[in-house]
Amino acid sequence: MRTLIVLFTRDLRVHDNPALAAACANAERVVPLFVLDPTLGELSPNRSRFLHQSLADLRESLRKRGADLVIRTGEPVAETMKLAGEVQADGIALTQDVSGYARRRERRLAQECDRHRLSLRLFPGTTVVPPGEVRPSGGGGHYKVFSPYYRAWESAKWRDEATTPRKITIPDGLSTGRLPALPRGESPDALDGGESEGQRRLKTWLRHIGPYDELHDDMAADSTSRLSAYLRFGCLSPLAVANAARGHDGAGPAAFVRQLGWRDFYYQVTQAFPKISTKAYRKSGDSEWRTDQDALQHWQDGSTGVPIVDAGMRQLQAEGFMHNRARLITAAFLTKHLGLDWREGVQWFFRWLNDGDVANNSGNWQWVAGTGNDTKPYRRFNPIRQAERFDPDGVYVRRYVPELSSVSGKAVHQPWRLPDTVRAGLDYPGPLESHRDEAVWLRP
Ligand code: FAD
Repeated sequence: MRTLIVLFTRDLRVHDNPALAAACANAERVVPLFVLDPTLGELSPNRSRFLHQSLADLRESLRKRGADLVIRTGEPVAETMKLAGEVQADGIALTQDVSGYARRRERRLAQECDRHRLSLRLFPGTTVVPPGEVRPSGGGGHYKVFSPYYRAWESAKWRDEATTPRKITIPDGLSTGRLPALPRGESPDALDGGESEGQRRLKTWLRHIGPYDELHDDMAADSTSRLSAYLRFGCLSPLAVANAARGHDGAGPAAFVRQLGWRDFYYQVTQAFPKISTKAYRKSGDSEWRTDQDALQHWQDGSTGVPIVDAGMRQLQAEGFMHNRARLITAAFLTKHLGLDWREGVQWFFRWLNDGDVANNSGNWQWVAGTGNDTKPYRRFNPIRQAERFDPDGVYVRRYVPELSSVSGKAVHQPWRLPDTVRAGLDYPGPLESHRDEAVWLRP
């Protein structure tokens, strides 16, 4: 009787999971496995919580299909091989991934499978189009610029969605292991993880996707999908999400699918440049970054005295999420206004974001810092102009900076312009020492 292990990583779903579907089609017995790697668990309490919720939900779905999720704790390759010995597995199925960590894991797994004469099959599923499947015709390996990538991506033939297994048989007498207690997380208002929750949110989102092109930058409207963390953990299949959106006509769904193209874009960049979190992608990209612990601390705490920046940074801590426009503004503020190293920003976001992942976090940070894939690396964002344009009534700022709730309209974006008597009544800091000069805000 043929037995295959499906090693889940960040493909925590039963729908459109090519590794799971193939294992079910090719073996009588399938062992769904997740290995909790203690070295990763400490990186982000928020994501640990989301992961645990997603695993609990996956286990429930597998149980409904007659199987279970085997949980082990330790070094993933060693634990997988140990289990392979226990269940006398013939092979392992795994969804392919791009980060340096994931690729080292794949390589070690391949070596061990070779040594133990097991098959190892890698499957797509982390992106809509697998990284490397579309390549620039003139050579160069991967796309460095988004627009030509997107054209190729959009017209590429997308794979068919994998069928969801109805019944899965696991070996008898298998010790499945317990999920540890749910970690607390750090953000009180973070979303809950899991495929079921992701599917529910996707369904709701598809009813609201229509005006996405007009509203996605409206910070107060909060009219984006908030599906990013479900995509990050593979609770949702990016391909299935893109197909579902493509099933709706109009500029909104098209703009949304384009954002999924950005996601795939950074995956193929990361596959080609795995050091994306620590090294400038552009050879001459890195500036002389300043060291200023005090300014960094104010930025992290959301107490820079620039309301739109502080609102974004506080949303991050409250929700484990930040609106995309706020991510752009706060990241540009750190790198282009405070002159601090983008790697500090990568790490801070990575600690808090439920959707934090290597490719999208570091790829976007490098884009903003001018060290990455932006074709205009010297672009500057004026935070006040951005605030007035994308939060014209100051609703977003007042939502996250309650000290300014008494200031109405767009005046909230520049509290230093309020009369002294009004300002004196606000428990809100003035701009950082290095940013007192108002001319700074007027630069393009
Ligand atoms: P929607 O607007 O509904 O977009 C749909 C999906 O498209 C998102 O869920 C996401 O998967 C993808 N997407 C949207 N914008 C981008 C983008 N610019 N780049 C890549 N994919 C995108 N996104 C992450 O998923 N993880 C990160 O760690 C991350 N870090 C970021 C750091 C910075 C400095 C910046 C500027 C952006 C970052 N983003 C990251 C991209 C983007 O901000 C989030 O994907 C988006 O805000 C998530 O909200 P949503 O699901 O409502 O997005």
